[in-house]
Amino acid sequence: MARAKATSFEIIIVGNEILSGSIKDTNSGWLAARLGELGVYLRRITTVRDDVSEISSAIREAIRRGAKWVITSGGLGPTFDDITLEAVAKAVNRKLTVNQEAVNMLRARYERLAAQGVIRDAHLTPVRLKMATMPRGAIALRNNEGSAPGCLVRYRGATIVSLPGVPRELMDIFENEVRPRIEKEASRIHRLGVWIKVKGVPESVYAPEIEKTYKALRKKVYVKSHPMGIQDGLSLTRIELISEDASRERAERNLKEAEEQIIQILKEKGAVEISVERR
Ligand code: ATP
Ligand code: MG
Repeated sequence: MARAKATSFEIIIVGNEILSGSIKDTNSGWLAARLGELGVYLRRITTVRDDVSEISSAIREAIRRGAKWVITSGGLGPTFDDITLEAVAKAVNRKLTVNQEAVNMLRARYERLAAQGVIRDAHLTPVRLKMATMPRGAIALRNNEGSAPGCLVRYRGATIVSLPGVPRELMDIFENEVRPRIEKEASRIHRLGVWIKVKGVPESVYAPEIEKTYKALRKKVYVKSHPMGIQDGLSLTRIELISEDASRERAERNLKEAEEQIIQILKEKGAVEISVERR
């Protein structure tokens, strides 16, 4: 695939509750879908415990692998186990310091909550100030859905973005603060896909032919088949084609070519039913 041209991303999900199975990680799938739409290249998703060394080494490893953007989820709150920013500071060798921008965001937030009667006192207690403590040089990212601001740190050509674990907050900060920066800064490619649903040809029958098509198209269209079981005594499969290119026309042309060749193969192999769904 033409992935070399797209900026490389990694996602790091932080949380004991995810590794213990008590909370289902929905943030990584949501972020992966957004990054896919943006046309950047998501290389890896890692899940780690609420542990400073685990998080910081995961960040370092991602950067060492070539990630230009690392997005972390979780651990930005006021509680003692929220230590993601401490880990970011460690990963980039910077001190933690109170970020004035973040202080202003928190002050405005607590004053609003006090005015609404949600909290009694808007005072920035040490626990609240903890959420404004960020690695030196960080940019605070506005959170319209909760308290903890997000945090963006630049380090040796890489960008580390830390978002809260609460999905609503993560989505808000991503859409308003992170997406515009990715659109402006990252190299993006066009990614187009189709699903071909086929009845009556088992995977094992068409697999070798489809591999030939994949190679003939110089791997510009990724082909993945998903078996879906047996229906009316016939095997049912979905074949996913994903075409990526810096040029939209080329991505379309390659996709069309792959689609036609694969449909031809499926017909030759005796498909009973073929349907195509564009995505
Ligand atoms: P808070 O300020 O609420 O403490 P936080 O950034 O510290 O936010 P966490 O403490 O890691 O985030 O998680 C808060 C809650 O968000 C969790 O209890 C869980 O319900 C939800 N959450 C955390 N991570 C994820 C995830 N990856 N997918 C879905 N939900 C998550
Ligand atoms: Mg928390």
